[in-house]
Amino acid sequence: RAKAAGRHCYRFFEIEMDAQARTQHVLEIDLRNALARGELDVYYQTIVDVATRTPIGVEALVRWRHPVFGELSPDRFIPIAEDTGMIVALGEWILRRACMDAAAWPPHVKVAVNLSPVQFRNPELVPMVRDILASAGFPPSRLELEITESVLLQKHTAIIDMLQELSRLGISIVLDDFGVGYSSLSYLRLFPFSKIKIDRGFVSEMTQRADCATIVSAVTGLAHALDMQTTAEGVETWEQFRLVQAAGCSQAQGYLFSRPQPADRIDFSRRENGERSLG
Ligand code: C2E
Ligand code: MG
Ligand code: MG
Ligand code: MG
Repeated sequence: RAKAAGRHCYRFFEIEMDAQARTQHVLEIDLRNALARGELDVYYQTIVDVATRTPIGVEALVRWRHPVFGELSPDRFIPIAEDTGMIVALGEWILRRACMDAAAWPPHVKVAVNLSPVQFRNPELVPMVRDILASAGFPPSRLELEITESVLLQKHTAIIDMLQELSRLGISIVLDDFGVGYSSLSYLRLFPFSKIKIDRGFVSEMTQRADCATIVSAVTGLAHALDMQTTAEGVETWEQFRLVQAAGCSQAQGYLFSRPQPADRIDFSRRENGERSLG
């Protein structure tokens, strides 16, 4: 009996796996057509200056409205795009869209675009970025490219060359999700990042654990000593904001200030006055 039940479970598991693999396959096929069908969009989340709490930039975040599954998280489809190589075309489209949208925004507003490690395997990456900036009429000094440390785990020298070249164009390179994965401090010296984004995990734990706040303060101090700015990611409450402010972070990003939203709905003028005591 137990054996039969076990078999049932196993069978069920197989069916589940099957369904998952099928969904994955469907998504892969649908993603090929998503761009042409206009199902993809770029949303923007504001990044605020901690001292003034005014928006000084935005992060571009891709969105896919699937006709059957509804809005899918990039965590769901970016890996598929990476596995299939579609990320190269997709990434180019996102960057062009972001630069074109941002060209119409106030000149002090920077736009940050995420780059996948897979995009660095494309030797045309740097010329592609340069061409997009030129055709959008968008100054490189207003573009930030966010990479995670997984980029730096690949063949080092070629990637560092590409990053140097992008940096020479006047583009800022930002280290995203700092604090997860390896987060070796030696990465900070390998490449002159202009900014470090402290992972949301740290920010959410800061309120519970004093050692977390100590780590964030230390990282911020180190970054500033190395002439880099810091952005705290995923700030959802005023309590968290107060802690990242105390830790010395220069910028903050999170639902407290705004959710990612379509280009035409961003308000760059707004100052957050949600908590009076912050003055
Ligand atoms: P990321 O680059 O670290 O982006 C920040 C993520 O945190 C976004 O998730 C954003 O919506 C979310 N977030 C921001 N504030 C808060 C908050 O206060 N609370 C919570 N819980 N979450 C917050 P999203 O848009 O789902 O993107 C997830 C990841 O997918 C991104 O992480 C990035 O790694 C990747 N991604 C998104 N757009 C692109 C893209 O255009 N190209 C590439 N290559 N990757 C992208
Ligand atoms: Mg990012
Ligand atoms: Mg991040
Ligand atoms: Mg992330």
